[in-house]
Amino acid sequence: MGDESITQQDNRFDDNAFCGRCGGSVKGRSDPAVSRPYCSRCGHVVYLDPKLAAVVLVCQDNALLMVQRAIAPMLGHWSFPSGYVDRGEVVEDAAVREVREETNVEVELLGLIGLYSGGEQPVVLAAYAAQVTGGELTAGPETQDVGYFSLDRLPPLPFPHDPSILADWRRQFGST
Ligand SMILES: [Zn+2]
Repeated sequence: MGDESITQQDNRFDDNAFCGRCGGSVKGRSDPAVSRPYCSRCGHVVYLDPKLAAVVLVCQDNALLMVQRAIAPMLGHWSFPSGYVDRGEVVEDAAVREVREETNVEVELLGLIGLYSGGEQPVVLAAYAAQVTGGELTAGPETQDVGYFSLDRLPPLPFPHDPSILADWRRQFGST
């Protein structure tokens, strides 16, 4: 470990404690207006990328496909199928893959609902509307249970951008 500890109150530094150029310890700026962390030895600025995740709203007979999460965050809560996009992966392929992994359902994307970012987590969400083309609904390894919820009886949505995603989906793709 380095002799200077990183600024722990900023979780964006978790994976970047040491400089990739010289091995010096990476620190946060004392001035919060200049938010990029930098190397305390050589001054190299560390550019932290956001993480990209895909979330999919699969509608069938006025009901949305949801998964009961078997992993953190929000373990045990019902949410829309979602997951991180792998480096080099086409985002639309990741969306289809995540639905398959979590529900064993095959889907065809109907279009992009929107992009959602900001807030506490350094995640950009790409939200897609989709329809079922095959498969058999069963829970995957990261899922406790799967099911369709009628649009007028959705469970509480656990993530900050969920209300916006749902409202935008209703406006662009929902029939009700
Ligand atoms: Zn350095």
